[in-house]
Amino acid sequence: MPVSSEKTHLTALTPDEMTEFVVGFGEPRYRAKQIFKQIHERRLLDFAEMTDLPKALRAKLSEVATASVLTVESKFVSEDGTRRFLMKTADGFPVETVFIPTENRDTICFSSQSGCPLKCDFCLTAKLGLLRNLTAGEIVEQIIIVLNDVYGVAGELPHGTNLVGMGAGEPFLNFENLIKATSIMSEKDGLFIVPNRITISTAGIVPKIREFAALERRPHLAISLSAPDDELRDRLMPINKRWNVEELFKAAKEFESTLRRDERFTFEYVLLGGVNDTDEHAERLAVLLKKHKLRRVKINLIPHNAAEPLEYGPSAPEQVMRFKEILESNGVSAYVRTPRGRDIFAACGQLAARSPVAIEGRASAN
Ligand code: SF4
Repeated sequence: MPVSSEKTHLTALTPDEMTEFVVGFGEPRYRAKQIFKQIHERRLLDFAEMTDLPKALRAKLSEVATASVLTVESKFVSEDGTRRFLMKTADGFPVETVFIPTENRDTICFSSQSGCPLKCDFCLTAKLGLLRNLTAGEIVEQIIIVLNDVYGVAGELPHGTNLVGMGAGEPFLNFENLIKATSIMSEKDGLFIVPNRITISTAGIVPKIREFAALERRPHLAISLSAPDDELRDRLMPINKRWNVEELFKAAKEFESTLRRDERFTFEYVLLGGVNDTDEHAERLAVLLKKHKLRRVKINLIPHNAAEPLEYGPSAPEQVMRFKEILESNGVSAYVRTPRGRDIFAACGQLAARSPVAIEGRASAN
């Protein structure tokens, strides 16, 4: 439900909730499916455009409900085609979403919170602190807005869309809304982005990794690691003081046992020049994986996107390759993630860096 609008945010409703809303509204049940399709399958957020619905119904709906609570404040388009959107909630908080095109599929990186309460030392979003959790409807609406911007309102999609919950926020600290949003987005009568096309990245909220593992239909999991020992991880990712490397790897091992056939999970490792990217760090990481007998895991190496006021610099390209080779020579699958949208501050760790809306949101949260 919306936080600041008194109108019901229909984009946040599951099919069952939509039925409940429609019946309570004095309309026949079949209208629920029609409205759900208009919003999620046709991607219409304005009742005036939902011409498949009777005019009287649209007028009645607009008095008590809305399909849209986010507004796009600004958009930046990178020379590599990446688009970064700065949106704003109805109550004035910043939301950032990134569209990353590749040849055969698109990826949308969405936010689960406005700001973030965790204090990862290499991340600009951390500087905002937590502004608030996003509702399920605000999570879903980000995807609709981005797809409509790229392909036109209700425009046909040329290929599948992958989603990654790696934008602003720690998704597992907004667990219920996150899972509700992924369930709404996977509906056949809607966006139809199935959990298999969604990856959620956590900084390591151990009890939630276990809860996530127990879900019947769940997206893929990525765990942000970025250090092979407690001493360094305590400094880079203070959440490690709550759940240390040992506890995190225990939960990861349990999670591994719940993987579907052919499924793997990911450790993400942000490479910070001279801080966590030496040969010794790579070797210690390989030892850690061996010790815990993790076999169905891959490591995504993410060269850091240096940006002021952060004090970290990027790893040398040859050191990135060395890190990868050391892991591979120890039998670990490692991939280097090509940074996208660096020129528009859309790359990992850069969100909230250059946002007048973000600054305004922070001011209103204090
Ligand atoms: S890296 Fe992710 S979890 Fe850490 S502070 Fe940034 S947004 Fe939050």
